[in-house]
Amino acid sequence: MAFLDYNLQQILQQSKPAKYLRKSTSDREDKQMRSIEGQDKDLDEEIITKFNLKGVKTVTESQTAFKEGRPQFNALTQEIEDGNIDVVIVWHANRISRNYADGGKFVQLMSDGKLKMVVTPHGIFENTPRDKEYLMNEFTRATRDSDDKSEAVKRGNRTKLKVGYIPSGRLSEGLMHVKNDKDVMINDSDPDRFPLIQKAIKLVLDQTHTPMEALAILNNEWGYQTKKTKRTGGNPMSKSTWYKTLSDPKWHGELHRREGVFNTQFPKLLTKEEYEKIQVILGKTSTRRLNKKDWPYTGLGMVCGGCNATVIMDEKWQIICSACKTKFHKAKDRNSCPSCGIHIAEMEQPTILHYTWLMPNHRNLPEGVECHQQSLPVINFNEQLDALLSQIFIPESIKNWAIKILQRENTQEFQDRTMIKNNLQELDRDIQKQIDNLLDSLVKELIAQEEYQKKKEMLLLEQQQVRKKLGETDKRADNWLELSERTFNFACYARYWFAHGSNQEKREILSTLGTNLMIKDRKLLLYQRKPFQILNGMREKIEILLNVYEPDELIDTISQNPSAHPLIPRLLRSRDSNPNKRIQNPLSYR
Ligand SMILES: [Zn+2]
Ligand SMILES: [Zn+2]
Repeated sequence: MAFLDYNLQQILQQSKPAKYLRKSTSDREDKQMRSIEGQDKDLDEEIITKFNLKGVKTVTESQTAFKEGRPQFNALTQEIEDGNIDVVIVWHANRISRNYADGGKFVQLMSDGKLKMVVTPHGIFENTPRDKEYLMNEFTRATRDSDDKSEAVKRGNRTKLKVGYIPSGRLSEGLMHVKNDKDVMINDSDPDRFPLIQKAIKLVLDQTHTPMEALAILNNEWGYQTKKTKRTGGNPMSKSTWYKTLSDPKWHGELHRREGVFNTQFPKLLTKEEYEKIQVILGKTSTRRLNKKDWPYTGLGMVCGGCNATVIMDEKWQIICSACKTKFHKAKDRNSCPSCGIHIAEMEQPTILHYTWLMPNHRNLPEGVECHQQSLPVINFNEQLDALLSQIFIPESIKNWAIKILQRENTQEFQDRTMIKNNLQELDRDIQKQIDNLLDSLVKELIAQEEYQKKKEMLLLEQQQVRKKLGETDKRADNWLELSERTFNFACYARYWFAHGSNQEKREILSTLGTNLMIKDRKLLLYQRKPFQILNGMREKIEILLNVYEPDELIDTISQNPSAHPLIPRLLRSRDSNPNKRIQNPLSYR
């Protein structure tokens, strides 16, 4: 690549030059690029004035060079083709092309001898193989730059979505882009609008107002005005925006995007349960199957006692019409009362009933016999499970006492174990010594090869057994105390956490308590894990103690003091189930 010198000046002055100025309006490509005026100024100073060039044509374009088909660029190449232009002056080679087709076309014009030079402030590309290669490289790099850049933008957006924010663009009413303390743009609630929208939603949720009445109050009484932008805004909230707000799942924390579903980080207008109730009020939601995330009792392998099919969770909504008092099921395509026809969203304080069920997804039995096991209401299931947990419940004071005894026994156990371990290790060393001696004897030809082999094999076998025992001793050491402690902790706190914990915690409690879950005749059956079977019997034995300690008071202490107790869960995970008894819990147990 040549630099500007006197010889080149001669050639340039005898040529037909044009300057090509381009800056993309798409800020993604040319955000930091010099403006068209700036490019023009630079070229004037560094090339045109400096070399005293006359009659330089100007071609200006405000279009991306990502894609083929720029009108001015096409006109320029046509002029070159026609012999009216033979030198092109540009601020940088990447002004000419950021795609392979246009870049190739340009270099071809050079090969054809129609384009003598491409001049930039940094150097000149002439019709030589090496210069053309350089130029092509510049175009290729410009292409890659743009690929990289758009990839980076996409990546940036994905990262932002993953952490729970909407990357860019216009946000819904109630949200705004703000900078956080690390100078990163995030979404936050719009302090002027978010509280008002939330208050209006509350009116709908409380069923004191229909959605349209709530919107009227929002606009007329509270003077809501949409966010102002250059062209729009400053108006009351429209009906469509209001309904969009009420049915957008991002407001309870689920951002649905082309890229996937993300958990939001910006403030929520309502909870998921509230959101679902509103969908019923709007006449949208109907029965749906609840997935693992929604409910604690799916994904645990619970089966139907009649046909062994998976038990799933299901919900039903029922509405009592406010006008005619008809009770009807909210089916998928039913938005209004089946008897008087009034739309659900227009009912004044309709009664909304929500039921959840554990529903076997029945399969047919042999010879087409249907399975007649019924669904079990979740409320009922919870009672049964609570009764099971209360059977193994032990008060905190007893738990502490039991653990203390366990620890004392553990000290004894530890001493025993250490002794056993020492003995086994000594035995291991002894065998090793015998093996070594045996080899010695063989080398000194004290024994025959055959005898050596036979004896060695026996010793190796013995050694193997000793080492296996050693391993087991270690394992026993880790397990039993921890397991017992966890068992007692579980027995003590599971009931509390079952009543107050999250779905995930409930799921853990259920799977800790037992395996092979089954629903039969509307009852929960399970194989209780062995430690709890023992506790079941134990409760009667410690009944006397319970009386001494006045259990009611103890239960009270627990429920008032939940934070003092770290969460039970992940109990007994390391232990295999021991399914030798499927227990059934009498519902009447209290
Ligand atoms: Zn069934
Ligand atoms: Zn009705």
